Amino acid sequence: MAFYRCGKCNLTWQYPIKKCPRCFEALTEQKGKQARVIAVSRVGIPTLFHPGVPYFILLLQDENGNVWAHKSSKEYVIGAEFKADPVLEAGAVAVWKVKYDWPEAIDKIISLLGGLKIGGSKKILLLPTLNAASHYYFRDNTSPQFFTAVFEYLLESGAKTENITVGAQSFSDVPVGAIAQKSGLLEICSKYKITPKDLSASTFEKEGKYEIVKEALDADLIINLAMLKIGQASATQNFFKILKKENFLELKNLGSEADIVKCFKEIEGKIMTVADGETTQRSNKLAGFTGLALAGRDPCGVDLVFNEITKANRMPDILKSLELKLEDIPIAGRTVAEAQYLAEYF
Ligand SMILES: [Zn+2]
Repeated sequence: MAFYRCGKCNLTWQYPIKKCPRCFEALTEQKGKQARVIAVSRVGIPTLFHPGVPYFILLLQDENGNVWAHKSSKEYVIGAEFKADPVLEAGAVAVWKVKYDWPEAIDKIISLLGGLKIGGSKKILLLPTLNAASHYYFRDNTSPQFFTAVFEYLLESGAKTENITVGAQSFSDVPVGAIAQKSGLLEICSKYKITPKDLSASTFEKEGKYEIVKEALDADLIINLAMLKIGQASATQNFFKILKKENFLELKNLGSEADIVKCFKEIEGKIMTVADGETTQRSNKLAGFTGLALAGRDPCGVDLVFNEITKANRMPDILKSLELKLEDIPIAGRTVAEAQYLAEYF
């Protein structure tokens, strides 16, 4: 857990605020490496936010003396070390809670899957979600905050800006440029001196019945920036943007979106989905706080875990057709039971 401390008055915050509200000094980040349980409360009364009981609220303390609360489905004894181990299986999904601090959450969910090997020469394709010409708070598209956190993570991990391609395309009648402008993504890209690519104008190569964009085939790593939505398979659907639009529509009309998922096999091993589940659209399109950060190499697994956590009224058809089962997905970080709440009731 990261904390932000003022060097002058020593006040500490759990949120990444830039300056101390008391003396306006710049704050320094303090990241604890170890955590110990210093108190445990058992909760036996269910609520809408915490429907599964019993659970335990642990009071944790790191080596810097910072203290925070952590919900756990497992009981701990006082004095025990607390840590979340990475899960390295290919189908694993990492789940973590996020509240304002995206840089910390991105680092956490990727490390829970064993991390990413990013050298300076690695070619990276970033696929932001660009679905509708709307402002980021409608949660249709990747938000500037989320994009910035992932981009900064890549740079800190050794990636070079010139080796990062930001690519997107529109599968609707709205031009992708208009969507990128309204969502705030263009502004962020210009800050990093990146010109995002309209993938529809790129070259596509035939791989069996799929026509896959060259940037995806050439990349060493493809990061799918999913904007999660309750009752939808939005991580999976964003990844379809590596296909030529006409090819995608033809395959969808002839078969189903679940069949198209097989095209992911062509580039398996270099996909990482990093998903924004902090504030998400419900089935009624209204956005509400869900406080989740998810990651996984399989976008379908990420969608399933998210819909299970938020107790979607209806599972997306694509996931039903794939017959994915929650019990077959190894989960890292937080358990589904710990994170679960009845989001559609709000
Ligand atoms: Zn201060």
